[in-house]
Amino acid sequence: MTVTEQLSALDNILAHGDLHSVFQPIVSLSQRSILGYEALTRGPSNSPLHSPINLFAIARQAGRLSELELACRESACKRFNQLGLSGKLFLNISPDSLMEPDHKPGCTLKMLQTHGIAPSNVVIELTEHSPTHDFQLLDTALHHYRAMGFNIALDDLGAGYSSLRLWSELRPDFVKIDRHFIDGIHLDPVKREFVGSILKMASASHAEVIAEGIELGEEFDVLANMGVDLLQGYYICRPQDQPPRDAGTILPREDSTADHASEASGGLQELLHPQKAIRQHTTTCQVLDAFRADSTLNTLAVLDDQDQPIGIVHRHSLSEALLKPFAAEIFTRKPISRLMSEDYLRVEMSQSLQQVSRLLTSRARQRIEEDFIITQNGRYAGLGRAMDLLKLITDEKIQQARYANPLTQLPGNVPIQKRLSKALSEPREALICYVDIDHFKPFNE
Ligand code: C2E
Ligand code: MG
Ligand code: MG
Repeated sequence: MTVTEQLSALDNILAHGDLHSVFQPIVSLSQRSILGYEALTRGPSNSPLHSPINLFAIARQAGRLSELELACRESACKRFNQLGLSGKLFLNISPDSLMEPDHKPGCTLKMLQTHGIAPSNVVIELTEHSPTHDFQLLDTALHHYRAMGFNIALDDLGAGYSSLRLWSELRPDFVKIDRHFIDGIHLDPVKREFVGSILKMASASHAEVIAEGIELGEEFDVLANMGVDLLQGYYICRPQDQPPRDAGTILPREDSTADHASEASGGLQELLHPQKAIRQHTTTCQVLDAFRADSTLNTLAVLDDQDQPIGIVHRHSLSEALLKPFAAEIFTRKPISRLMSEDYLRVEMSQSLQQVSRLLTSRARQRIEEDFIITQNGRYAGLGRAMDLLKLITDEKIQQARYANPLTQLPGNVPIQKRLSKALSEPREALICYVDIDHFKPFNE
């Protein structure tokens, strides 16, 4: 297809709205749920403009990027609504279109209203396509979106020209690690270092990390063990016309994602407080009675009829909520689901202490000390406390240090014996590798 033919094809596409959107789920491992869906645009099938890459390249060339963007957004919002998808809608936006003079601010908000999508449920994915000189303009435009209630994600982190500067200046809610760092991560220690550093920076800046482009089980396992909670890629689910709604159908079974890093410890069993939970229909009055009857009770998990957690009630936030004028009169007879918090940390029993610690520290500072919910196969098992987690990790580190070989700092005999006994007691195959370095003295010196 010549450029002229492509331009005329683009003309046709824009004139007839000949675009459609497919959706790829982004899953949360800890919640075993779908956080949301990324909308990806497709041009007419059997056309070279089927791929969004070609489509956007030619629109950019024709100076019709904003027009195409708007049409894509319209298609994505309409379809998201038609399909009745729940969770967040991730929308790609090229920053250069924000800077085009015919960019119409406020259009997206109106469009969302038409399709009944709340801005707080939308994440604007920002992709850097060209070196952006005017940071100020980009910054202003994004703060404008944020002020309208949108979340912001920095897409393809590490692939652009100035990803880190954008990250530090724009403070996005999500960062999506470029596929380059995910591809073959199980074989490449340097890629693992990069992802590890991204996790640290995200924890410091309170951004959530999404790893995209996961194609292999091995990549998935490494990321899960490193504590990356939000995942996207062909291995989990390809972009689809009618994407799945239940993470259980697309995530690998729990025992196959069980963390190898948790081998040293006994998983989360040691942290579990098998605290009774309450049902969503329990009245606020009954919950208050429960807190009054037991002064050591700080937190109650709220469950649905299938024993799955749907919220949490903390003593301090409940009392605060009820102190507001007329709140006691309004809420005491109402179900607790009206006052419970939906912002809580939920982890599976099979996760490692390290994973839980990372998830906990990536939460907002004031939430770090709150109890978290532990589930087994998605059902409520009990509560965990941040303090206990900290103690267990510290104990483990002390044990490691105590038994480490003073010369090499490698695990000494005690942890090796412990690990061997564990392997022998497990019903799965294990491989032991024994390396004897002969004439060690020259190495030592
Ligand atoms: P992106 O936003 O980084 O989207 C991810 C791309 O990776 C998508 O390609 C998706 O199909 C693909 N992908 C997902 N999982 C895997 C995987 O496991 N392996 C591999 N190799 N690829 C995977 P797609 O749909 O061709 O889109 C390409 C790019 O086009 C997107 O990259 C995005 O930058 C842009 N794009 C797509 N739709 C829109 C849109 O409506 N507006 C804007 N501004 N850009 C869009
Ligand atoms: Mg994207
Ligand atoms: Mg991307």
